[in-house]
Amino acid sequence: MLAHHVMGEVNGVKGAWGYVEGGLGRLSELLAERARGLGVDVLLNVGVRRILVKDGSVTGVELTDGRVVEARVVLSSADVKTTMLNLLDPDILSGDVRRRISNIRSIGVSAKVIGVLKELPKYSVKDADPMIGHRASALIMPSVDYVERAYRDALSGSFSREPWISINIPTVYDQSIAAPGYHVFSMFIQYAPRTLKWGPEDKARLREVVYETVEQYMPGFRDRVIFDHVLTPLDYEVDYGTVGGNIFHVDMTLDQIFTNRPMPGMSRYSTPIKGLYLCGSDAHPGGGVTGAPGRNAALTVLEDLGLVKRSRVLNLLDLLTMAIKLLRT
Ligand SMILES: Cc1cc2nc3c(=O)[nH]c(=O)nc-3n(C[C@H](O)[C@H](O)[C@H](O)COP(=O)(O)OP(=O)(O)OC[C@H]3O[C@@H](n4cnc5c(N)ncnc54)[C@H](O)[C@@H]3O)c2cc1C
Repeated sequence: MLAHHVMGEVNGVKGAWGYVEGGLGRLSELLAERARGLGVDVLLNVGVRRILVKDGSVTGVELTDGRVVEARVVLSSADVKTTMLNLLDPDILSGDVRRRISNIRSIGVSAKVIGVLKELPKYSVKDADPMIGHRASALIMPSVDYVERAYRDALSGSFSREPWISINIPTVYDQSIAAPGYHVFSMFIQYAPRTLKWGPEDKARLREVVYETVEQYMPGFRDRVIFDHVLTPLDYEVDYGTVGGNIFHVDMTLDQIFTNRPMPGMSRYSTPIKGLYLCGSDAHPGGGVTGAPGRNAALTVLEDLGLVKRSRVLNLLDLLTMAIKLLRT
């Protein structure tokens, strides 16, 4: 997951991350507005109960309110296990395919602490501008050994006693997302494995560890917090329905990327069901707010419907280019 975090670019700056003005939810709103403008019906506050299949081909979806939407193509950005194991009737896929899908590894390892600050804390940096850490995403990750220790804690079934933390205070750039004078913060924490039970006492301990770590770099941070909320992989699973609580749906490990994502034989967005496609993080090139799996899946659908020319050679070239980039970083 670490390498994946620094790949890509924003406006030609390698490894940089972008910020969406108004917060990330604004991106979804803008996409929905654009889609509606193109005549798309966007249904909110309703889920998909079942994906409907007849004679090996998709025929539509049944919604949680009982309505049926007929379709010859269904793209799912729910994770692969939800899509293939929970939303399809169990007798549709062979036992072997179901077993292979259930064996895909998806164990969430990250947590989040978000909250509100009554004033902006400052980094304690010697002989440097104390605002320096606020100009971008700041990362508490002092050494490779530090990351290794954090990882080993997770291997032994706990969360990291000294986690690596990515801190963002987006109100430094965008005051529109908080009341005047206040700041919001968002801390990405690793490692916090889904395998933990995540009872209230685990959450309370994680909160302590996070603040103790942050205080070493931004003294007085905690005193400025007027509200906070801890999100664990269990919360991601329960609140967003992602099996395993993995923010990237399935693990971004070498054996589950490129042509093995989410598993060999299902890496070109299509599935064993004709007309059913995966378009989320568990499809190549994986997680993060990139839009890339969705775009690739949409192109595959257009190709399969004969609406655009198939471009397999280009896809292979794309894969090779990405592999070379990965080896160089
Ligand atoms: C706390 C947190 C912070 C993150 N920070 C960043 C970041 O700073 N930058 C970044 O690039 N990435 C970040 N990520 C990762 C990023 O959000 C994900 O990789 C990305 O959202 C995945 O997009 P997706 O469309 O594949 O799936 P998701 O965003 O997981 O969307 C899948 C959707 O399917 C819905 N769904 C599931 N089942 C059903 C059903 N039966 N019917 C209808 N809908 C259903 C879910 O509710 C969900 O809305 C973060 C993730 C989390 C959880």
